[in-house]
Amino acid sequence: MNAIAVKNSVTLDTLYEINETSEEQVKAIYDRAREEFKNLKKTTTKERVAELKKVRDEIFENREIIVEKVVQETGKSRTDAVVSEVMGVLDYADWIISNTPKILADKKVSTPISLMGKKSKIFHEALGPVLIIAPWNYPFNIAMVGIFTALAAGNTVVFKPSEVTPLKGLIEAMMKASPLLQRCVTVVYGSGSTAQKLIDQRPAKIFFTGSARTGKKILSQAANYLIPVELELGGKDQMVVFDDVNIARTVAGCLWGAMTNAGQSCTSVERVYVQQGIYQAFVSKLKEETAKLVLNAGDEGDADIGGITASFQLDIIRKQVDEAKESGADIIVGGELLSDDMPFYMPTIIEHASTDMTVVSDETFGPVITISPFNGEQEVIDVSNNTEFGLSASVWSKDLKRAERVARALEVGAVSINNVMLTEGNPALPFGGTKQSGFGRIKGAEGLLGMTQSKAILVDKQSAKIEANWYPYTRAKYKLFGQFIEALFGKGLQKWIKFAISGIKLESESQKPRG
Ligand code: NAD
Repeated sequence: MNAIAVKNSVTLDTLYEINETSEEQVKAIYDRAREEFKNLKKTTTKERVAELKKVRDEIFENREIIVEKVVQETGKSRTDAVVSEVMGVLDYADWIISNTPKILADKKVSTPISLMGKKSKIFHEALGPVLIIAPWNYPFNIAMVGIFTALAAGNTVVFKPSEVTPLKGLIEAMMKASPLLQRCVTVVYGSGSTAQKLIDQRPAKIFFTGSARTGKKILSQAANYLIPVELELGGKDQMVVFDDVNIARTVAGCLWGAMTNAGQSCTSVERVYVQQGIYQAFVSKLKEETAKLVLNAGDEGDADIGGITASFQLDIIRKQVDEAKESGADIIVGGELLSDDMPFYMPTIIEHASTDMTVVSDETFGPVITISPFNGEQEVIDVSNNTEFGLSASVWSKDLKRAERVARALEVGAVSINNVMLTEGNPALPFGGTKQSGFGRIKGAEGLLGMTQSKAILVDKQSAKIEANWYPYTRAKYKLFGQFIEALFGKGLQKWIKFAISGIKLESESQKPRG
């Protein structure tokens, strides 16, 4: 079977190999996932979150092992790994454990007066085996957030990690803490061709995080089976800086937002717009601070920026920056590898880039920003919305009214005000994009509900009463319905008296047998 080498992304040594999963294996995986779903469906939310708590504790206990494995396969800096892959997961786990029973509780809703005497409610029910397909940039975080949410909602999970960073055995090891949940999660290794086989087995829903290119393929394959799909895709996030900000803090935020995870984050800052009045001061502080950043592999927590995980991603970054340079943009900092033998791309700042350059129009997914000045509020809204992506953004200003006005006008799924990439730091907030950045939400109540289907329940009493809208239809009933509608939906002082009279008459007419 085709073996795929999983490499240490810095030394490029092969760590181990994974194999594509065969169609027979995929079928067996779904048979098991469907069988386990029958058991999981019988559990209460309280029972499930108690089991999730055991997995959460296992992650906490093994946090060093997790960091080590993530660093090895991704090449990210140790601090990037501990913050996003450990702290982020624990934070989310605690939120889902505390909030699932409340969010998924049966919900009473009002019943209109025309249905007097009845009660209405909604059950939030699990879907079945869900398929989660993940990328390589946050391999533990994206895996565990999806798995925790799916299990909390009562679904079984088929999880397909990226073949670039499969973290072989790690998720299975964490799930062992709960034998019940361990049976409900299967990690399936392989590339896109294995993922296609997994879709062909008709999961109840697909949750995909990755590129827009692959998202389109998944959507079209899923359309054949009418499988619902949620897509978390790429971004080209803008940072909008007004001239009333504290420059030092905003520059620090800009650098972290652009360079964290070596820019290999779907919500990293890629385009910076600074108001004219502080533009020069902002750029010179940015240059000064960028020069201080430390790039290193195998660090002890003292490197700011790690390596570029995938060689194909490094090619994209280099191509975009080189093309921009050839087309007349100015690379004011960086623009090259730290050394030819290692995948460390220097933090890069580009001025005078235009929208016809791929570094502005396409996702870069590297430690690279373009920076340009703007004059007015409407101008920066229009210019920064001029992209096919719409994942997240940040707006920086002392004037919070203005910042909120701009946040409302930006065509994105999330906006941090006077901070950066922070909406995703709060598990209670929904996460997801607009335009080519995808649709659907993970995290927050919306994310959890997205892993369920609503069942509408209406409860009436047992009695001999025949409903007015049931047969037989008669001329007398038709006339009374007219009066009832006029009273219920019309205007007038005696509306409720008329409503009561027509209602009683309609009710009594409805009890007459067909004559
Ligand atoms: P990718 O689209 O190449 O691959 C993602 C996953 O899809 C992998 O597991 C891959 O094996 C699988 N895949 C490939 N072909 C497939 C097919 N035909 N059918 C089904 N699955 C297939 O993305 P990537 O390079 O791993 O990740 C980088 C991208 O992910 C960037 O665009 C980034 O912005 C995006 N991303 C988005 C978010 C978000 O939440 N919006 C988060 C992280 C990353």
